[in-house]
Amino acid sequence: MGEVPTREEFLFLPAWQVALFYALIAASVALFVWQVRGRVRLWMRGRPISWRPDYVGGIVRYVLGQKKVKTSRTRSGAPMHLLIFYGFLTLFIGTTLLAVNTYLPWKFHKGAYFLTYEFVLDVMGVALFIGLVWAGLRRLFAKPKSLTSDLSDYATLGLLLLLTVTGFLLEAARMSAAPQPFDTSAPVGHWLSGLIPGVTPQIYIGIWWVHAALVAVFIAAVPRLRLRHIVYAVLCAAGTDPEAKMSSLTPLKLEDVEKTGKIGVEKPEEYSRWHLMSLDACMECGRCTEVCPAHAVGKPLDPQKVVQDIRSALSDGRTVADAVSEEALWACTTCNACVEVCPVLIRHVDLIVDARRHLVAEGRMSGTAATMLRQVQSTESAWGTPAAEREKWMGAEEVPIARDLAARGESFEYLLWVGCAGAVDPAAGKTARSVASLLKKAGVSFACLGIEERCTGDSARRVGDEFLFQQLAEQNVGTLNSYKFKKIVTACPHCFNTLKNEYAPFGGDYEVMHHTQLLSELVESGRLKAPSFEDGAVVFHDPCYLGRINNESDAPRRALGVPSDSDASDTPVGKWLNEPLELEGNRLAEPVNHGRKTLCCGAGGGRMWMDEDISQRPGSRRAQELVETGAKTVAVACPFCRIMLETGLQQVEGGDKTELVDIAEMLSEANEDA
Ligand code: SF4
Ligand code: SF4
Repeated sequence: MGEVPTREEFLFLPAWQVALFYALIAASVALFVWQVRGRVRLWMRGRPISWRPDYVGGIVRYVLGQKKVKTSRTRSGAPMHLLIFYGFLTLFIGTTLLAVNTYLPWKFHKGAYFLTYEFVLDVMGVALFIGLVWAGLRRLFAKPKSLTSDLSDYATLGLLLLLTVTGFLLEAARMSAAPQPFDTSAPVGHWLSGLIPGVTPQIYIGIWWVHAALVAVFIAAVPRLRLRHIVYAVLCAAGTDPEAKMSSLTPLKLEDVEKTGKIGVEKPEEYSRWHLMSLDACMECGRCTEVCPAHAVGKPLDPQKVVQDIRSALSDGRTVADAVSEEALWACTTCNACVEVCPVLIRHVDLIVDARRHLVAEGRMSGTAATMLRQVQSTESAWGTPAAEREKWMGAEEVPIARDLAARGESFEYLLWVGCAGAVDPAAGKTARSVASLLKKAGVSFACLGIEERCTGDSARRVGDEFLFQQLAEQNVGTLNSYKFKKIVTACPHCFNTLKNEYAPFGGDYEVMHHTQLLSELVESGRLKAPSFEDGAVVFHDPCYLGRINNESDAPRRALGVPSDSDASDTPVGKWLNEPLELEGNRLAEPVNHGRKTLCCGAGGGRMWMDEDISQRPGSRRAQELVETGAKTVAVACPFCRIMLETGLQQVEGGDKTELVDIAEMLSEANEDA
C-alpha cells in the first residue's frame, strides 16, 4: 500500500520558531480585538435594537449568497467582488480547518479529503488572484467615477496579492523541498514547483516566515482599512431587521419621546446600535453615490459621504447636523436607490429621515416645505385646499360616495383613494377621473371617501414630521375602518405605499392596489381594452415608490398591453437564456433606468414642496433620459412624477414635443367607444 496523502504541519520548523509564530499571531489577534472593541464600545452607545434578528437567514442571504452584490448595477464590480469574496472565504475556511486538524487528536487532513482540499484551495486561490488583479486594474485604469481610491486602498490590494502569491510560492517551495507523488492534486503549486527546483529547507523556512509575517500584518491592519467590512458587514447582515423594508419608516413612540425629551436624532449615538454598526461596514464602494439622483444633478448630497460623516461624528462627538449639512439632509428624495444598491445593507433613508425629524422638531425647517406642513395641519391636504374641494368633481362624474352608499345600505368592493393631488391638481384630476370612468365602464363596484378623505401623511412623514403623519394615519384609519370594502385602489404610488405599508401599526391593515394593478387585471380579463401604439412610441417612467420600493413594474406595462419580462422567460431554460419570445402586444421604448432601477423624478421625500434651483432638478435629468428614447409619449403612473416631469420636459431639448399622460388616461381613450 502506498503512503496516505497528507502533509506535515510546520514542516522543517524548529520548535522555537513555532513558538515565535504563535506569539506573533497572538499579538496581531490582540491588536485586532483591541481595535474592534473600540468600535463596539461606540456602537453600544446607540439605542438598543427593537427587533429580533434572523442571524442565520441574514448570513446565508447576504454574506454567503452575496445577494446584494449580485444585484449591483456596475458591470465589473459584482463579478470582481464575487471572485475575491469566494476565493478569500475558501482560503479562510481552509486555513481554519488546517488549524483544527493540528489540535485535534483525530487527524482528518489526509487521504481523499486532503487531495480534494489541495485542489479546491488551489483553484479558489487562482479565483482570488484574478479578482485582486481585476480590482487593481479597475482602480488604476477604469476608475469608476464614484469609487474613491487612496494609498491605503492600493496598499490593501497589494497586501492581499502578496498573501496570495506567497501562499502559492510556499506551496511550490514545499513540493520542491519535499516532493510527494500526490502533489499534482494542487495543480498550480505543482506547476510552480517545477519552476523552482532544488528549494532547500532553509529557503522554505524563509518563504514560510514572509507569508506568516504578512498574515500577522493583515490581521492587525483589517480594522483600519476599508477591508474592515469583511468583519462588520457580516455582523451587519447577521443583525439586520428581517422586517425592515424600503417601504416603511420606523414609527416614533410618544413614550420614547417623553422619556428622552427628544424627537429624531441629533447626535449619532441616538441611532440604533445596528445603524451605528452599519456605518463601520461601509466599504466605500460608491454605489450609493453613483445612483443618487440628487447627487447626479449637483446637489450637496452624497450618500456615501453621509455615512462616513456620521461615522466620524460618532467618534469625535459632533452632532449629525454638524457633520452633514442641513442642505444635504433636505436634498434627499427618499427614492431608496442608495438602500437598494448598498451591498452591506446600510439604510441611508433611516439615517436621513431621523436627522430630519430632529430638525423639524427644532423648527429648523423653513420655506415651501414648512408651508406644506402648515397646510396639512390646517386643512389635512398637502395642497392646502379645504375638504369640500375633494368632492367637487365627483358629482359631475357621478362617482359613488361611500357615506351615501352606506346610508342606503349598499356595499361596494373597492375604495377608490383619490389623494390630495387627484382631488385638486388639474393634471392629476384627469387621472382620477379616468380611473373612476374606467372602473364604471368595467363594472367594478367602488366608492370614494370624498370629503372624508385626508392626506395620507406621506410627505409629512418623509420630511420629518412624524407626529403629524401619525395623527393623519389615525384619522384615516378611523374613517376607513368605519366602512366595509375588500380592497383600496389608489392612483398615487405615495398614497399606495403609505396605505399598504405604513398604516398597520395604527390599526389599518388593508389590501391596497395601485391603479395600474387593477387596470392590468381588467385588461387581462377582457373587461377593458389596452391602448395600441407603434413600437417605441411610448416610454413609461417607473415611479420609485412603485417600481423599486414596492417592486411593481410589471402591472403598468401589462395595463399598456405590453408583454412583460416574466412572459418572455416563463420556462426555466428561457429564464436562464434570457430568451426573447415573440409575444403579441405593444412594445415600449425603455429608458436606461427602468423597473427597480428607475431614476427618481425628484418629488419624493417631500421634495415636491421644496424650492429647487433650476439647474439642479432631478426631474430634468429624468426627462432628458426619457426623451432620448425617441418616444413621443411619456406615460406616468404618479401625480408627483407627472408634475416634476412636466417642468422637466420644458427644460430639455425635444421635451416640448413630448406628450405626458397617465396610463389611466391612455386606457380611457382606448375605451372611449367601448
Ligand atoms: S434615497 Fe435617493 S436621494 Fe436620498 S440619498 Fe438615497 S439615492 Fe440619494
Ligand atoms: S454606503 Fe453602501 S453603497 Fe454606499 S459606499 Fe458604503 S457600502 Fe457602498
